[in-house]
Amino acid sequence: MADLLGFVGVGRMGGPMANRLIDAGYRLCVYDVSNEATGPLVARGAELAASPAEVASMAETVFMSLPTPDVVREVALSGNGGLINGSTVRTVIDLSTTGPGVATEVAGKLAERKIAWVDSPVSGGVSGAKAGTLAVMVSCPKPAYRTLGPVLKVFGKLFHAGEKPGLAQTAKLANNLLAATAMVATSEAMAMGVKAGLDAKVLIDIINASSGRNSASQDKFPRAILPRTFDFGFATGLSYKDVRLCVEEAEAMGVPMVVGGAVREMLAVTRARFGAGSDFTFIAKVLEEWAGVEIKG
Ligand code: NAD
Repeated sequence: MADLLGFVGVGRMGGPMANRLIDAGYRLCVYDVSNEATGPLVARGAELAASPAEVASMAETVFMSLPTPDVVREVALSGNGGLINGSTVRTVIDLSTTGPGVATEVAGKLAERKIAWVDSPVSGGVSGAKAGTLAVMVSCPKPAYRTLGPVLKVFGKLFHAGEKPGLAQTAKLANNLLAATAMVATSEAMAMGVKAGLDAKVLIDIINASSGRNSASQDKFPRAILPRTFDFGFATGLSYKDVRLCVEEAEAMGVPMVVGGAVREMLAVTRARFGAGSDFTFIAKVLEEWAGVEIKG
């Protein structure tokens, strides 16, 4: 019989990743506070658990893909129903972006119960999660990395970021600071260009053939802003959380982040104007409102 894996948090990212595990022949036991999220997986044969602890009593290896550090801490450690209370679990793998602080804390608490911790944040968006082309950043001891390699490869390309809990989270925060910075700076450049009379499609084509090209100009603008769909699939509240965690980590280490601080404030403005649940491509809408233009084409 195929291995049984646990999966807690099957939303925009966790859902497609769990689907890929089923495609690869694994059996799954899932839990999410949203029945809408678990429904399609249960329809494909996944078992539905009533709590994270129940998942951890069925599966030796449990994945998490959850929104914030607080939710990861609660799901992993909560006295009533947390993964730590499961009778079978040996390894917990966190695919969420939650920063090195919570990774270190939860890893320590799980270790007291002889449960191994792996932080494994991912990059590549919902489309990468569906296609299995994510960048998968992993920190854990080398032997565990070798053992888990085959199952993690179902999600994409693996990078061993180090042995210490939280190192992969730090790599992910560095990446997401850059992705958010590209969104903010490209929105500013595009709003200025369109206000001056440039066609948005022409300007994005020029940038993408020139030295200013970046992940926002090459992907987010052509896919979700110029066509006015604003449906890239990553929430403003989550991007704000990533950049906040990054700037806080940097501050704690005495590394000033002048640009990072400004990007965090732009995300705070976007969140205040359009809500935490808005797509993070709404950053461009803030610039559109300030400039009095529409970046379309
Ligand atoms: P999401 O909100 O779509 O999914 C999170 C899921 O967790 C939801 O289904 C929610 O119901 C569930 N959940 C919340 N609280 C829970 C709890 N207490 N117990 C069980 N389930 C709970 O978010 P997402 O976009 O899938 O992001 C998940 C993580 O992956 C985040 O940390 C995010 O930063 C990261 N991430 C997202 C993207 C992206 O493009 N969306 C890309 C890379 C990484």
